[in-house]
Amino acid sequence: MHKFDPCSDIQDYLVFGEYGDVNPSVTDSSTYTFLSPQKMKELFDHEIEGCFLYSRHWNPTNKYLADALSKLESSESAIVTASGMAAISCSVLQLCGSGDEIVSSRTIYGGTYALFKNFLPRFGINVKFVNIQDFAAVKKAITDKTKILYCESISNPLLEIANLPKLSEISKAHNIKLMVDNTFSPVIISPLRLGADIVIHSLTKYINGTSDCVAGCVCSSHQFISQLTDINSGASMLLGPVLDSYRAASILKNLHSLHIRMKKHGENAMYIAENLKKIGLKVYYPGLKDHKGHKLMLEIMNEGFGFSGMLAIDAGTSDKADSLMQRLQNEKFGYLAVSLGYFKTLFSSPGSSTSSEIPKEEQVQMGLSEGLVRISMGLDNDVHKSFERLKKCIVEEKII
Ligand code: PLP
Repeated sequence: MHKFDPCSDIQDYLVFGEYGDVNPSVTDSSTYTFLSPQKMKELFDHEIEGCFLYSRHWNPTNKYLADALSKLESSESAIVTASGMAAISCSVLQLCGSGDEIVSSRTIYGGTYALFKNFLPRFGINVKFVNIQDFAAVKKAITDKTKILYCESISNPLLEIANLPKLSEISKAHNIKLMVDNTFSPVIISPLRLGADIVIHSLTKYINGTSDCVAGCVCSSHQFISQLTDINSGASMLLGPVLDSYRAASILKNLHSLHIRMKKHGENAMYIAENLKKIGLKVYYPGLKDHKGHKLMLEIMNEGFGFSGMLAIDAGTSDKADSLMQRLQNEKFGYLAVSLGYFKTLFSSPGSSTSSEIPKEEQVQMGLSEGLVRISMGLDNDVHKSFERLKKCIVEEKII
């Protein structure tokens, strides 16, 4: 475990609004004035620190949020985007062109999988899916056309832990970029400190935490963020997935309670996972000693923020998963909904929802059972009561 506390860096990041306001003023402008035509020309020639041109390029509110996220991920720089998918697609399109390849973990969010499998080939970019735990397979898949090694730090939905130090070693040896989706484990895992080159987040999830907007970010080197925002050749500038500044301001406020929320999500998930195991249910949770990635997680995680709020249980069959989820919603255990990181508990069956883009035979290959129910544990104050509700549903649905 690392003693590193990313949130103390955010705590030290004091910004002042125009009037000394503790929440920086929200800039409500799509365009910005210049003192002279000369200054405008200079900005088109090269970026000028603190100078804004047009909001699709940069705006002050988005910059405040990007800077705070950069502190969170210990990166030199960051940008915010209108969704997590925009962060992923802009980053891969920045690095890859026709003829290039990506080597990706096969256990990734279904939307990313669909982007890689169905969409990128239209641009001549091919993706090889591998078991990211199998380093020999990863190395074998890399060719001189490969530009990116892609994975999620805690994978969706099976909660496998990526060995980021080892994957970084492989990517460095082949001179390719290690790109990591850290959506499931903000604060808990710091991929850039473990050797990754690019971290992306769906801010829609834990970082915002209130399920009221969709947003994303890319955290990386100055060089890569400048490439993404380049006026003439940057994917984020030219594809245009700009985040609205009002949303950026509200996400920034929520970011400041992230550490407390992650601890509580983790505590609740641990309690539920341990107690489900005691009653004999098959549970996937990296905090459990018998989880495949538990030891690795202990090695790479930051101390004090728990093991994340995501867990998965196996109800056996798809019908059983459906009837369990129906009952869980009726009994007010949480909401039957995709997404995660909300203050209330959310659950869904990945095989027929968030991972449905992955063909059935590949789901079987990666161990994704059709009866899997993914749970994003909320911030419930009385987790014992939540467990009793869950247990009642499991027993009544004859899951055990
Ligand atoms: N990455 C992961 C792990 C996700 O779960 C999701 C969405 O569910 C995304 C990326 C995409 O993010 P967004 O929905 O913000 O575009």
